[in-house]
Amino acid sequence: MKNEIGFIGLGNMGKPMATRLLEAGYQLIVFDNREEAISALVDCGAKSAQSAESLASQTDTILMSLPEPEVVKNVALGENGVISGNKIKTLVDLSTTGPHVAQELAMKLSENGINFVDSPVSGGVAGAKKGTLAVMVSCAKHQVSELREMLQIIGNIFHVGEQPGLGQTMKLANNLLSASALAITSEAIVMGVKAGLDPKIMLDVINAGSGKNTATQDKFPNAVLTRSFDRGFVNSLMYKDVELYLAEAEALKVPTDVAGAVHQLWQTACLEIGPDADFTTIVQCVEKRAGVEIRTKT
Ligand code: NAD
Repeated sequence: MKNEIGFIGLGNMGKPMATRLLEAGYQLIVFDNREEAISALVDCGAKSAQSAESLASQTDTILMSLPEPEVVKNVALGENGVISGNKIKTLVDLSTTGPHVAQELAMKLSENGINFVDSPVSGGVAGAKKGTLAVMVSCAKHQVSELREMLQIIGNIFHVGEQPGLGQTMKLANNLLSASALAITSEAIVMGVKAGLDPKIMLDVINAGSGKNTATQDKFPNAVLTRSFDRGFVNSLMYKDVELYLAEAEALKVPTDVAGAVHQLWQTACLEIGPDADFTTIVQCVEKRAGVEIRTKT
């Protein structure tokens, strides 16, 4: 039987990752602030904890997948947080928080003898279900070796650096590209549709040509043409990621002309379509202004 580990945050990403670990034979103790999220994992064989602190007093290794940087800081360092547990040795953060939060967490946790592992992920809910996520680990080499067996259940491990925060920097670069691809594909397909092209044919051509990207290959065919808008990542979280990217690029004095425009479009999506709507609904902001809807003719 494998080790007992903890998992905090059983949402769109956390639930499938925790489920894969259970299925691989790990004994899981889980915590979330939604009762129904805990029950779903308990029904699959996990034990539950009453708080992050209680969880951190029962196991030496915890993974967490939480929405916003402030929530991550609070669950790790706040009242009844992981830091107050008396058994915890390693906290692996799979959330996207930006490099500064990762550095702060690493520093404060290490003062309490807890190793912090910066390890954001990419690949969406589909990747979390299949165990094909890109896992961007930034910590000492020996820690990657210790965690390899467990982390490879959720995806492919990339050891991107030794310093906490570098995993986050890697993730922000990745998500700027994902956000930009979705935003610019929305404009290009709406332009073609308004001129009379069939969006299905447009995507076939683009995917056989040089314009292909993650939006044309996955999000548009599977969530926009179908009008299902169901990739499991909400506008507010993508807006957060682009905002974190901008802060980092500005601090490093790297130009942000394109990133700034992408940020603005995501802000519009949060205001007009809603922060909790799926991130593929960003196309609706462009459709609305152009006065057309992307629907296939066939
Ligand atoms: P989510 O909102 O679906 O899940 C977050 C979970 O955390 C929820 O179950 C929520 O109840 C729980 N939670 C919130 N506050 C809590 C607290 N104080 N204590 C305990 N539990 C709490 O978010 P998600 O889409 O699963 O994303 C999680 C993280 O992973 C985010 O940082 C996100 O940016 C990142 N991420 C998401 C995706 C994706 O496609 N959804 C992909 C890669 C990375």
